[in-house]
Amino acid sequence: MFDKILIANRGEIALRVLRACKELGIKTVAVHSTADADAMHVRFADESVCIGPPSAKDSYLNVPAILSACEITGADAVHPGYGFLSENARFAEILADHGLHFIGPKAEHIRIMGDKIEAKRTAKRLGIPVVPGSDGGVTDDAEATRISAEIGYPVLIKAAAGGGGKGMRVARSAEELSGALSTARAEAKANFGSDAVYIEKYLGKPRHIEIQVLGDGKGNAVHLGERDCSLQRRHQKVLEESPSPALNIEARNKIGETVAKAMRELKYLGVGTVEFLYEDGEFYFIEMNTRIQVEHPVTEMITGIDLIFEQIRVAAGAELSLKQSDIEFRGHSIECRINAEHPVTFRPSPGKILHYHAPGGLGVRIDSAVYQGYSIPPYYDSLVGKLIVHGKTRQEALMRLNRALEEVVVDGIDTTLPLFRTLVREADIIDGNYHIHWLEQFLARGGMTA
Ligand code: ADP
Repeated sequence: MFDKILIANRGEIALRVLRACKELGIKTVAVHSTADADAMHVRFADESVCIGPPSAKDSYLNVPAILSACEITGADAVHPGYGFLSENARFAEILADHGLHFIGPKAEHIRIMGDKIEAKRTAKRLGIPVVPGSDGGVTDDAEATRISAEIGYPVLIKAAAGGGGKGMRVARSAEELSGALSTARAEAKANFGSDAVYIEKYLGKPRHIEIQVLGDGKGNAVHLGERDCSLQRRHQKVLEESPSPALNIEARNKIGETVAKAMRELKYLGVGTVEFLYEDGEFYFIEMNTRIQVEHPVTEMITGIDLIFEQIRVAAGAELSLKQSDIEFRGHSIECRINAEHPVTFRPSPGKILHYHAPGGLGVRIDSAVYQGYSIPPYYDSLVGKLIVHGKTRQEALMRLNRALEEVVVDGIDTTLPLFRTLVREADIIDGNYHIHWLEQFLARGGMTA
């Protein structure tokens, strides 16, 4: 096992990793920018090192400074959290070159899954169902027309190097195709430096359902069920739950086993998430995230398994201690991402938290790094914290969420708390009847101005 872990991140995820390290008896090092000198992760860690000015590219993404911090403190492993360097294959290799462990997958797997065309090809080869579309990149318009006619309109043009929903264009007919292609190519070139695009069938009202996996890199892998992340705004997840209201046990076990088998074949190491769109009873692979995700707590709540703990164990070379039959799913869990944003305009609202009161009681969990008097800096993401509830049934979880949302107080800045207070009372949410466009449609018809 590792002696000392350096956490190359900030905010709630840095705290989350620190908590797991403490329970495992592992010493911890926090790194921080000058803007985060007063941050909670700095206070909680055994040691801390300032690695640069506020801008993330000069601090949390500053690889030489992070390497120096490892050397100064004698850390033997680095946990990257999510975002920042967590899906940077080169960073994983550089750590290895310096005799340090990266707490994450093998560099080759990070690299494959970071290229969307390569990821889709790999998924298909491993028997994971994918969205019908072009086999690889599409270069000329004639080929695009032929493929689109074959899969049928509407089609979606996507950037191979894409991310964050950029470089995506829908073409509803053959007439729209060449315009959509040139716009997608131009956007891809401007954002990602490559104009490579590929074509997929456009799904109308799918749900976003993802499977959590854990592997030890030696051919053992399990799945930990699904998360439904269909409530999204601008392709960003807003609320997540597990189990999905759209799946039954047989459907979960079937897709879960398909994914676990693929991960065993790949000899995948660490935690990962295989993301699907789900429509009319069919799953379609869209991408794999090779890191711990923001929404991992809902899986922890229904399985009782500490995912960070398991991630650290396998990174240190241990064999998977869990068999698929050890993993039981109990009750229902829902997570709300509370952001420092205006609940109607979604304008970011950094600033000082004047009053803070966290909810409590049975089945309520808060993963947050804020405190009363803390100032949310303007330089990073706007996550204030995650409110996670657990109940025996979905109905109990919803009642508990409603109650917890009434208790929580975050004053001094705008937050998205009012959005969640509205959502838990919406019939479609109560019925679990929503898809990936539901929230945008709800906001467009003025659901939050009333
Ligand atoms: P990115 O990496 O840019 O986030 P993804 O491939 O993960 O791109 O897709 C982001 C989102 O775009 C999905 O969550 C879904 O809302 C939508 N999307 C992606 N592919 C399709 C598709 N074939 N049909 C309909 N919507 C899609």
